[in-house]
Amino acid sequence: MEPNVEGTILVVEDEPSLLAALEYTLKRQGYRVITASDGLTALERARQERPDVIVLDVMLPKMDGFDVCRAVRREMNVPILMLTARDEEIDKIVGLEVGADDYMTKPFSMRELLARLKALLRRVRMIREEAAAQTTDAERLVFGDLVIDLSRGEVTRAGQRLVLKPKEYELLVFLARHRGRALSRDLILERVWGWDFAGGTRTVDVHIRWLRQKVERDPANPVRIVTVRGIGYRFEG
Ligand code: CA
Repeated sequence: MEPNVEGTILVVEDEPSLLAALEYTLKRQGYRVITASDGLTALERARQERPDVIVLDVMLPKMDGFDVCRAVRREMNVPILMLTARDEEIDKIVGLEVGADDYMTKPFSMRELLARLKALLRRVRMIREEAAAQTTDAERLVFGDLVIDLSRGEVTRAGQRLVLKPKEYELLVFLARHRGRALSRDLILERVWGWDFAGGTRTVDVHIRWLRQKVERDPANPVRIVTVRGIGYRFEG
């Protein structure tokens, strides 16, 4: 199981019963919840509180969700999930014009909303961790005799340079930067290959196998890139 991702969520919705339901559900999940019921207040709250994610209704008094989204985008890098009642707004929501990260059409299930928010928050956390890893250890990641030289894009084991394919290298760097954490195949696929990659999670397994043959002393009994049953893989650093 992945650890529960907590964070601060700004919920913007002018329909009181829906706002109350969202607030209740999210708080029960352990999130800190801030609310706003019009666009101007939403923008103010976002500036003051710096939420980790924003749930934003489209039709709002004073300033609509599109304008709020655009304004927030100019000032901060926070994922935005938009709520819409109309299918014809979807192109605008996800398109370049507004550029929300995700959307849901009303009525929606709370379960589905929670799953989407969890995914957005996970991405935020990953990006922050990567940024932190880059600033604290910009040049080299060292794990015993295994050294990843990020500035040169080279990997050595016991002083011997390993020949890695570009995707193997990217995969290794991704795993190493998130050492100690169980990473699901889906997440690895999304982060190393990208959203638009057509292949399945088998691709991940195949690359892991190749990588083990290069970085493990005994690829049949891996100690660096270990399998986490039912989830995926974990890098031991
Ligand atoms: Ca509304």
